[in-house]
Amino acid sequence: MDGQKLVILGGGESGVGAALLGKAKGFDVFLSDRGGLKDKYRDELRQHSIDFEEGSHTEDRILQANLVVKSPGIPDTIPLIQALKAREIPVISEIEFAARYTTAKLIGITGSNGKTTTTLLIYHLLKTAGFKVGLAGNIGDSFAKAVINDTFDWFVLEISSFQLDTMYDTRLNIAVLLNITPDHLDRYGYSFQNYVASKFRILQNMQPGDDFIYFQESPAIVAKLANRSLAPNALPISLEQPVSPGGFFLNGELTAQNGEDCFTLPITDLPLKGPHNAINMLAAVLAAQSVGVSSEHIAEGLRTFQNAAHRLEPAGVVDGIAFINDSKATNVDSVFYALASMTTPTVWIAGGQDKGNEYSQLDELVGKKVKALICLGKDNATLVSHFSGMVPLIFETQSVTEAVQKGLNWATPGETVLLSPACASFDLFRNYEDRGEQFKDAIKNLK
Ligand code: ADP
Repeated sequence: MDGQKLVILGGGESGVGAALLGKAKGFDVFLSDRGGLKDKYRDELRQHSIDFEEGSHTEDRILQANLVVKSPGIPDTIPLIQALKAREIPVISEIEFAARYTTAKLIGITGSNGKTTTTLLIYHLLKTAGFKVGLAGNIGDSFAKAVINDTFDWFVLEISSFQLDTMYDTRLNIAVLLNITPDHLDRYGYSFQNYVASKFRILQNMQPGDDFIYFQESPAIVAKLANRSLAPNALPISLEQPVSPGGFFLNGELTAQNGEDCFTLPITDLPLKGPHNAINMLAAVLAAQSVGVSSEHIAEGLRTFQNAAHRLEPAGVVDGIAFINDSKATNVDSVFYALASMTTPTVWIAGGQDKGNEYSQLDELVGKKVKALICLGKDNATLVSHFSGMVPLIFETQSVTEAVQKGLNWATPGETVLLSPACASFDLFRNYEDRGEQFKDAIKNLK
């Protein structure tokens, strides 16, 4: 690739990883970020003598590229990307770029919700079984950086729809599609079908003998599958009926049947709670079976798994009241599953930056489980108007301390206070992690 001009747009984890890989492969690399770079990334680029700019995009230089790697955060609609496309300069994602330089087999996980949980669990099951496996994509260290030395036999990749939009030739050996519900529609021309089509790009380039794992009670997935043929083997997941091959969760027992392997485990031995996590665990077990992980290693991996923070994370018990941090629930569907997982009357803390939410999907569960709603956001109008009349007690605040205190006052011993916002966090917090951490700190201060 000597002399070929590689331009990287966006200098976060994936962009800097792509720059390092490009340099290692002999490209003439230039990284451009319209915002500012973190110190550690700036240092890394300097150490490797990689040219970069911050604060603006120098269009003349960028348009000289032979290849562009774009951060998933940059929409296709901006003039710079349109100008690149008009000149037929290929614009790809970091995953697509990195996949060209690895001999490892790839497992890709996508869906509107559950990607991180399922990705971490698959990685953990393979690692526990002694496989040489890397973890990348939307999570942790960059995929591109990891393939510079290319020491793994498998990669487990969390893949967002934005990344899929700029993937063309990458072949996944195992793909997981967990669900498709409305999210990010602002990036898809407000068309749900465009978003569904983006998620289905996970199947492009899969071949007979590869495995496609999907949740068969997701209406959007089923509707799309009905209109197309499938090259890889289908491994469906059901919460309603036995499927074979495939995985199902019925009568408190998880069963996964894949090839010769049949794995079963009762609910009491499962690491994650709630019906949504049954789907995630089944997807992970089926993927591990496809790789060749034994039932003994799968059982051991499930026993020792710890999920990432902010996903239905137990956040302490005060005066007999359990607090749960589900700050990562930034859309309505994830709240649906969070509420479905509640086994006691619940004081629900929700709100934040609304992405055009439609809350009626939650009505039945809210009617059954929610005794009070605390709105934690700058503008709570949609939440309040939808749920007043349905929930007897509603309180609005912009202070997480006040929200937690109110939760303590309104819940009685044995009940639950659940932070599951259905909204992005950027109105009051840096990000969902910051919201979750501040929530946990406020609970500690109650004690
Ligand atoms: P993602 O990486 O896709 O955002 P996470 O694993 O981080 O997914 O979970 C995000 C939120 O979605 C959490 O609040 C969790 O409770 C909820 N969730 C997890 N798995 C599922 C699923 N299979 N279906 C619906 N909601 C889910």
